[in-house]
Amino acid sequence: MTENPFFESWTMPFGVPPFDRIRPEHFPPAFDRGMQEQIAEIAAIAGSAAAPSFADTIEALERSGRLLERVGRVFFNLEASNTNDAIEAIARDYAPRLAQHQIRIALDHALFARIADLYARRASLGLDLDQLRLIERYYLRFVRSGALLDPEQKERMAAISERLASLHTAFGQNVLHDEQDWQLVLDETELDGLPGFVKAAAAQAAEERGIAGRYAVTLSRSAVEPFLTFSSRRDLRRALWEAWTARGARGGASDNVAIIRQISALRTEQARLLGYENFAEYRLDDTMAKTSAAAERLLLQVWEPAKAKARDERAALEAVAREEGLNEAIEPWDWRYYAEKVRKARYDLDEADIKPYFVLDNMVRAAFDTAGRLFGLTFTERDDLPVYHPDVRVWEVRDETGSHVGIFLHDNFARPGKQSGAWSSRYRDQENLDEPVAPIVVNNNNFARGNARGDVAGGEPTLLSFDDAKTLFHEFGHGLHSLLSRVRYRSQSGTAVQRDFVEFPSQMFEHWMSVPETLRTYARHYRTGEPLPEEMLRRLLAARNFNQGFTTVEYTASALIDLDLHRVAATGTFDPARFERDFLDRMEVPKEIGLRHRLPHFQHLFAGGGYAAGYYAYLWAEVLDADGFAAFTEAGDAFDPELAARLEAIYRAGDTRDPMELYCAFRGREPAIAALLQQRGLAAAQSG
Ligand SMILES: [Zn+2]
Repeated sequence: MTENPFFESWTMPFGVPPFDRIRPEHFPPAFDRGMQEQIAEIAAIAGSAAAPSFADTIEALERSGRLLERVGRVFFNLEASNTNDAIEAIARDYAPRLAQHQIRIALDHALFARIADLYARRASLGLDLDQLRLIERYYLRFVRSGALLDPEQKERMAAISERLASLHTAFGQNVLHDEQDWQLVLDETELDGLPGFVKAAAAQAAEERGIAGRYAVTLSRSAVEPFLTFSSRRDLRRALWEAWTARGARGGASDNVAIIRQISALRTEQARLLGYENFAEYRLDDTMAKTSAAAERLLLQVWEPAKAKARDERAALEAVAREEGLNEAIEPWDWRYYAEKVRKARYDLDEADIKPYFVLDNMVRAAFDTAGRLFGLTFTERDDLPVYHPDVRVWEVRDETGSHVGIFLHDNFARPGKQSGAWSSRYRDQENLDEPVAPIVVNNNNFARGNARGDVAGGEPTLLSFDDAKTLFHEFGHGLHSLLSRVRYRSQSGTAVQRDFVEFPSQMFEHWMSVPETLRTYARHYRTGEPLPEEMLRRLLAARNFNQGFTTVEYTASALIDLDLHRVAATGTFDPARFERDFLDRMEVPKEIGLRHRLPHFQHLFAGGGYAAGYYAYLWAEVLDADGFAAFTEAGDAFDPELAARLEAIYRAGDTRDPMELYCAFRGREPAIAALLQQRGLAAAQSG
């Protein structure tokens, strides 16, 4: 094939991919050649007759697979953000092949012999600290992939990895299918209770789906939650909630239950081959928590206090519901609706009054300026670089000396062909092995787009809820972890840290969204430009702990079922649906709350292996971020320059040092859980 952009050197400024020229048919030949090239590179490293050195083995591995990396980054980012049938088909075809390629390298006997030899001699090689850690991580990664197994076991490991890759891909595609396949289509008479911004977003969604003039509520969280909060039509709330929670469990070709069964059985088998009792123990062995018991201990510390708080919350909801004539129990599709009424009564806050102050563009500016005040970064929009979708905005990032730091892509709107949720990813990682390489980072959100593009008079710009604004800051925190990275080796870059540490930089950054300095400056009414009234700001901050019982229960229940599921010795007869029911009973999960993610669409666990037995990581990291932000509160300055510099060191370090060491260097001591309980309003419940 001629003119495949992956086979040319890219001439766009800053190494931005030539999105305008990349077409689906370019991926298969580029993947094929990328794998061939890396196999040849590995063969040269493994087949060397010379005694292994750090440079000819570890650094050579760091340099290998450049083409494959480049293709894979573009492909998997587009698969998540802007997919289509052609890309989906390539994903199904190549997921197992790429897994096989990776495992073939990890199980290469001659290559591992060189790594093991260096690992054994590492103390006498005269290595720097980052190099020492790199070699330890390489050794561990190979061992955890099965490098110490006998040939027959290795063959089984390879087959399992390949099969898992296919199942993960199928799981994610099924969820996307169910999300695109269903929408609640409404006309004028069915909008009772909905404020203007929810109507505007639903009108916009309908227009994008070819039913202009009507209203569509899609199954993206940013469309579902506002509808459940405001619609006074209980029947419609219920229909939407049932469709939302049935994703991946609707029977037929897109049903994920059988896939969960197979994934669970294969993960168990993999863990057993590697000498672990179950997948959770295998997975947790390479985390800060170390064991599933340690992770569970933390979750259980908040579980009962959160349930107690949720019981109080439910009582308040029921009181309002009875006043309004609902004499039945509160159901899951009622919680948000009545919670909003209680919030309004208790704090005199109306989401519909707050939202006009949270304009997307202003909150993006707030995130950029916070990164400026804390870390000296500046963001300049570039409209001369190609993008993969017109929604995407491109920013060049510079440091305080004016030097180029990287490129930041912002892809903020929900649309067909885009995975739901919010995430941060990279098209290129920072490294500095042979030459400085600047990162290209992307943040994805799924905000419901307003219907005014530039011209406010014609409607409303994109308005965020308080939680949406936190999500924006959260993903941007991950983005900063990638942008601020100052490491030598690509595999230690930015977010390449242990799973239960990776949420620390993102959750830490969320705190700056709600500091009064930020709200006073950037929360301005889209029509008048007036800042959020002081009185409203005070009430907004006072209401921060509101509904934390609900929020903590639905998250913690999902984190506990994740650990439980991955501690089961699953076989081919494992029944995920029954497992979920038994879990809800045994843990006495309040049925009016339920799980934040039901198993059939729990993408963290099954659309890839990344967060499997790892969903607890958000709470684990929250111990650190609550305790860490308390340092700024204690200093009396949310932008304390000395603390900011010490925090920046964590963002810069990537995986070059142990996470707990990094945290202690920032905080001057180990983290304590008190700040987290305080933050979630659970401290009193705990001691009581
Ligand atoms: Zn995150």
